[in-house]
Amino acid sequence: MGGYTGRFAPSPTGALHAGSLVAALASWLDARAHGGRWLVRIEDIDTPRCVPGADEIILAQLAACGLLPDAAPQRQSQRTALYEQALATLVTADLAYPCGCSRSTIDAANAARGIARPRNGDRVYPGTCRSGLQGAGPSAWRMRTQQAPPLLHWQDRRLGEQAQDLHTQVGDFALRRADGLFTYQLAVVVDDAAQGTSHVVRGEDLADNTARQRWLQDALGLPVPQYLHTPLVRGRNGEKLSKQNGAQPIDTSAPLAALNAAAKVLGLPENGGPIGDALAAWTAQWPWRSAT
Ligand code: GLU
Repeated sequence: MGGYTGRFAPSPTGALHAGSLVAALASWLDARAHGGRWLVRIEDIDTPRCVPGADEIILAQLAACGLLPDAAPQRQSQRTALYEQALATLVTADLAYPCGCSRSTIDAANAARGIARPRNGDRVYPGTCRSGLQGAGPSAWRMRTQQAPPLLHWQDRRLGEQAQDLHTQVGDFALRRADGLFTYQLAVVVDDAAQGTSHVVRGEDLADNTARQRWLQDALGLPVPQYLHTPLVRGRNGEKLSKQNGAQPIDTSAPLAALNAAAKVLGLPENGGPIGDALAAWTAQWPWRSAT
C-alpha cells in the first residue's frame, strides 16, 4: 500500500494545446520525481462536448512528447456503474436529492433574492428543491452542502492553504444532470479513488472545484489525495488559454519546443534535448517535492 500514483485527466474536446500540455508535463514530472506511477484518464463523461477522435489525438501527442502512461488509459464513459453506485450511497445517506430546476428557474430564484449571477461564474443553487422536488420535469441530482464544514479547508502544494464556504459560494451542486449524465465533480472523485490517485496535479483553473471534491470524498469515505495546481497559460484575452481564445494544437513535429514552452511556465530552465534527456533533467530539477 502507499506509494505515489498520479494522473493526467484530459477531456477529449480537442487536441492538447500549450495550456493543457503544462498540466500533462507537470503531472508526469511530479510522478517521476516521486518515483511514482503516472496514469491517463480520458474524461469523456460530458459526451455532447466530446470530439470524436480527440482522445486518440491526445494520446498520440503525449507519446510524441515522451509522456507515456504506465497502464492502458481508462475512459469515464465506461465507468457509469461506479458513478451510479456512488450516487446511490449519497442518496441513501440523504446527502443527495433530486432537483427539477432549469437554469432559468435558478436564475429567477436568485434574482428574486437579489443575487446576481457572477460573470463567467457558476450559478449558486438557491436550494429550491432541497426539501422536496418542485416541478414535473426530468430531475437532476444535487449534493447537499449545508452538512459540509462551514469553511472547507484544503492544502495546495503551490498555492498553500485554501478555503471555501460551499454552501454560500457554490450551493448544492449537481452530481447527475437531468439528461442522465454524471458530472465532472462526482466522476473525478470516484475515479481518483478507484485508480488509487495519491497526487492530483492539474491546472489552476480547476482549483476552485477542489472543495466540492473534498466534500464528496468525506461523504463517500474516500481517501484524500494531495493537490498541486499549476500556473496557467493565458490566451489573447488574458483568460485561460483555450480553443476559443486562440490556442493551437501543439506541434508534434517539434515536441521539444512544445515541452520547453510548458517547462518554462513551470519555472524550469530551457533544455536542448533530446526529449528523454530534457525530461530526466526536469525531473531532477522539479521544485515541488512532497512527502509521499
Ligand atoms: N478533465 C478535466 C479537464 O480537462 C481535468 C480534470 C482533473 O484533472 O481533475 O479540464
